[in-house]
Amino acid sequence: MILPICLYGNPVLRKQTKEVEVSKDELKQFVADLFDTMDNANGVGLAAPQVGRAERVFVIDTAGFKETYPNVEVRREAFVNPYIIEEFGEDFTFHEGCLSLPEIGEDVVRKSSVRIQYTTVDGEEREEVVSGLVARVIQHEYDHLEGQVFTDRLSSLKKMILKRKLSDIATGRVRPAYKTKPNK
Ligand code: ZN
Repeated sequence: MILPICLYGNPVLRKQTKEVEVSKDELKQFVADLFDTMDNANGVGLAAPQVGRAERVFVIDTAGFKETYPNVEVRREAFVNPYIIEEFGEDFTFHEGCLSLPEIGEDVVRKSSVRIQYTTVDGEEREEVVSGLVARVIQHEYDHLEGQVFTDRLSSLKKMILKRKLSDIATGRVRPAYKTKPNK
């Protein structure tokens, strides 16, 4: 089921997220809905707060990068109760966008690799090191679980330049092609 996506300015994007119970059947349905919603909006990642639930779950699908980066490692997966244990490697600049911040794209600098602990939707606990674009999507989605959006990471000058665009999103003047939840 395609869920409406919450936009910048919706307080849920700033909320503290809670861990979810992996054994619940409802989790599988929710993860399927996250995938449907992400696919419908042609996204490469989507986090639970973006559909109004302050919970520690996100999904990724790096297949969306294939056209631009044919050698990208393709992973389509859900991360339940994830924790980034460390970020390391070189600084890596990449142009990010976000389904909750339509029509904004900016270069963001992050570390190239992360070590992450998480549970799969089937309840398997994992810990692994990821790099490249997979790491980038994970870092972006993980920020959503910490109440952050990618523009928080920009310089104050860049933020000032984006102020008008962000307020246009928050006040409903930007209408993307996918289903969104209006901010009150
Ligand atoms: Zn995002």
